[in-house]
Amino acid sequence: ATPTAILVGSAIGAERGILIKGGDILERVHQLHTVVFDKTGTLTTASPQVTTCVSLSHGFSEDRILQLAAAVEQGTHHPIATAICRALEGRNLPIIDAEGFVTQTGLGAAAMVDGERVWVGSAEGLSGCGVILSESVLSIIPPGETVVYVTVGDELVGVIGICDRLKSDAKMTVERLQKMGLNVVLLTGDRFSVAEAIASELQLSEGSVLAEVRPEDKAKAIAAYQQQGHRVAMVGDGINDAPALAQADVAIALGTGTDVAIETADIVLMGDALGDVVESIRLSQQTFNKIR
Ligand code: ADP
Ligand code: MG
Repeated sequence: ATPTAILVGSAIGAERGILIKGGDILERVHQLHTVVFDKTGTLTTASPQVTTCVSLSHGFSEDRILQLAAAVEQGTHHPIATAICRALEGRNLPIIDAEGFVTQTGLGAAAMVDGERVWVGSAEGLSGCGVILSESVLSIIPPGETVVYVTVGDELVGVIGICDRLKSDAKMTVERLQKMGLNVVLLTGDRFSVAEAIASELQLSEGSVLAEVRPEDKAKAIAAYQQQGHRVAMVGDGINDAPALAQADVAIALGTGTDVAIETADIVLMGDALGDVVESIRLSQQTFNKIR
């Protein structure tokens, strides 16, 4: 394609809210084999909902568990934080103060509340704290839901279940990409059972689901595809996706994503529509298939 064709392609993209950050990007899009999607906030809505809250300690009511979790989540920008803070509003519970916020990307978060360390996060993050989960605790939250454990000091005090829905255009986007001959992959830090539920809804092919993957290992997963000779696009929204976005041949961030994701991206979808991933590929085809 001529430099003019590339400029025209980028301008058409910009008009649709597809921000292409450089002249060589459309060419790389044209050569893609694999499109990897993050789950939370990318394929699923950025506003999941709390479905369950169970206290595991006599000293803590369900409401108190939610309040403590929300106090910690104030310090994060994760979709889980949105869900927990919204649940608090739904129960008319005030948000309590916290300080000393620490975010463990892809694992959880912690803060000090009333002089005690409160931590929220995944089973993996919990095992890092030395807590071993019993079968009865593991089975509280149904397989299709994200689990958030809450600890105060060294004690596991509660568990929260969170339900995430696919975005309305997720299924069609995946279908269209597959019809274009692209390999579509789901890459998430969430538990296997949640990833599998999403993958079956999207009818992803076997072997295209990677779950319980830490942020740094998300980048390794992209590299593994590249080592097989694949050109890979990564679509993501979170801080946890930044290493994978940096590793991918084409990094696509949602406009609603975190600053780090947007800065790392080659393409930003301002309208937040997953269908724009397909449009970006169409645009590259139009730009590069023209007779020169
Ligand atoms: P995804 O790859 O689906 O975007 P993340 O890498 O952000 O997911 O997170 C992986 C898992 O770590 C989540 O499913 C959750 O269990 C836990 N986690 C991450 N951030 C938080 C948080 N702010 N609060 C509670 N749990 C979290
Ligand atoms: Mg995400």
